[in-house]
Amino acid sequence: MKILVTGGAGFIGSAVVRHIIANTADEVVNVDKLTYAGNLESLASVADDPRYRFEQVDIVDRAALADVFFRHRPDAVMHLAAESHVDRSIDGPAAFIETNIIGTYTLLEVARAYWNELGDSGRERFRFHHVSSDEVYGDLDGQKGLFSEQTPYAPSSPYSASKASSDHLVRAWQRTYGLPTLMTNCSNNYGPYHFPEKLVPLMILNALEGKPLPVYGKGEQVRDWLYVEDHARALYTVLTHGEIAETYNIGGHNEKRNIDVVHAICELVDEMRPASYGLTRPASSLITFVADRPGHDLRYAIDAGKIERELGWAPEETFESGLRKTVAWYLDNLDWCRRVQDGSYRGERLGARA
Ligand code: NAD
Repeated sequence: MKILVTGGAGFIGSAVVRHIIANTADEVVNVDKLTYAGNLESLASVADDPRYRFEQVDIVDRAALADVFFRHRPDAVMHLAAESHVDRSIDGPAAFIETNIIGTYTLLEVARAYWNELGDSGRERFRFHHVSSDEVYGDLDGQKGLFSEQTPYAPSSPYSASKASSDHLVRAWQRTYGLPTLMTNCSNNYGPYHFPEKLVPLMILNALEGKPLPVYGKGEQVRDWLYVEDHARALYTVLTHGEIAETYNIGGHNEKRNIDVVHAICELVDEMRPASYGLTRPASSLITFVADRPGHDLRYAIDAGKIERELGWAPEETFESGLRKTVAWYLDNLDWCRRVQDGSYRGERLGARA
């Protein structure tokens, strides 16, 4: 298969690209605009592989996208490109509307035009896999249940509203035009190559540097945490074995309060940090409670029973094993972190593209 991956330079997209190149015989065309969240240094291990290609394209740019489709002739699309940070969506929703809604619409239209021109066997084989979030289901505050594939949508933030909109478009393109789509809604991911503005890497790096560990409100928010490589494996499983028009929820069976996640990170940093870091007090003493995010959902929790029963996928990492791997990865890759933090990863792009 030749798979066109959008957003392949991001956190999850790069894990998907590395997974496909390392574990399958498939080819990948990575279509990424390279926003602040796109980092080609996360793809260093595959950059020279003859089965990997990179195209710097904005998914809102219909002509450029069509050119990529008709030049590369993919068998499938995995759509991960998105603006993904809730705090940024509160400060500036426009980019979220543009990329997550207009970009998904543009991608659907280009994919539909391309699919319509394929021969019978190509049309039969083609898949459009839309990667979405559990945040579209809204807040489980005060409720015991879990999100299922039937849970009504009730997004709370500009980010989750824009993802919900894109999910509706994908569903409509399947129902109306017959485009062979698949959809997945996943819980919070953590793991290597995560941009340091997100909770887990931010806490690891601040703890290492002896900086405050900012926790929203009282840290009571509950999220279901999934190791990113388990997510990448789930996505490939759905692409290759999922039923057309179906949605699969993906989660890690790891409901944790943010404050407990931060304490677990602190313990690992205390245990694993090199002596040269010289922090003499426990990392947890750096925890600082800050004003809560507006509209902050209290609890998300996923029922991943359908993908487990129907497609045989299950997470391989527990929260404990995945978090230990993650802290170890950050300690071993401080150079990658430093280059993100000082912005030099963006300067590398010209060289990487040449
Ligand atoms: P990310 O922010 O790390 O990466 C997004 C990537 O998309 C970047 O490489 C960026 O350059 C690219 N991009 C942004 N706008 C683009 C545009 N207009 N055209 C082309 N490329 C563009 O995001 P992530 O955390 O890797 O998330 C990937 C997908 O998974 C998103 O759709 C997100 O909604 C979804 N998701 C994320 C999580 C999570 O915990 N991170 C959980 C569930 C679902």
